[in-house]
Amino acid sequence: MTQIPADWLPRVPMRGLTGHWTAGGHRANTTDLRAYHLLVEGDGTPRRGVDIRLNSGRLQPGYAAHTLNANTDRIGASMCGMMGARESPFDAGPAPLTRVQWDAFVRMSAQVVDFYTIPIGRKTTLFHAEVQANLGITQRNKWDVMRLPFDPGVVGAAKIGDRWRDEMQAVLGGSLPQVVDPIPAGGVAEVTAQALNFRRGPGTEYDATGSLPRGVRVTVLDVTESGDWAWVHTPAGHEGWVAARHLRMIDGPAPVQPTAPDPRRLWIEQARAKLDELEAQLNGE
Ligand SMILES: [Zn+2]
Repeated sequence: MTQIPADWLPRVPMRGLTGHWTAGGHRANTTDLRAYHLLVEGDGTPRRGVDIRLNSGRLQPGYAAHTLNANTDRIGASMCGMMGARESPFDAGPAPLTRVQWDAFVRMSAQVVDFYTIPIGRKTTLFHAEVQANLGITQRNKWDVMRLPFDPGVVGAAKIGDRWRDEMQAVLGGSLPQVVDPIPAGGVAEVTAQALNFRRGPGTEYDATGSLPRGVRVTVLDVTESGDWAWVHTPAGHEGWVAARHLRMIDGPAPVQPTAPDPRRLWIEQARAKLDELEAQLNGE
């Protein structure tokens, strides 16, 4: 396995890995290094971008805004290339992804999910182009990664994502835990136990500060990696931890508010708005 240096992987909780291409050249430029945590250049050389710690827990200034509304506790790893690529008819442009780069990306990804014990699954290890379908989070015309220029037989986000996941599993020898799809954070759930202990932390070793009666509805703020404990907000305004198996989902997460997208997206949107405005003026005259 290609070893990326241990100090590139700080010990913080991370729950997902999202794969990308940069849409730039084969070498990582300063914009690329600010947008992702880890990169692989066209010749397979790994590069370190943003410190993973900035995306752990609360997003901190300078965090890697790699995926719209899905950056918290998620690592963004990218293959450098696909500048000027066109989706249809497909044209990979002057910096197509290479096989040696893909293989290095697979090994790097396997090392990352192994280190952070991220289960390999469609919601936990996925390409940017799969985010909308697999996580239900709307993205803006993202098609990375939908093509492998060195292997034209594999087309489409799901197929390429499955190939990535299979190859990561193969590198790791199937040693990772099975995927569990826990209660989604942001949903509303009902207490099903008679009196559910309300604790200061995710475990029976934490003090119970009270209990919630059956039928009370809570908002799920977060769930532990194991899916066993949920951090909830009660109607009375308290926040604490309860055993997730005594909750029943009532409603899924509300649509999330946009976080800060890549600044270049804002420029594009502003430019488009300006063009629309100019065109409207032109047509009005
Ligand atoms: Zn992307």
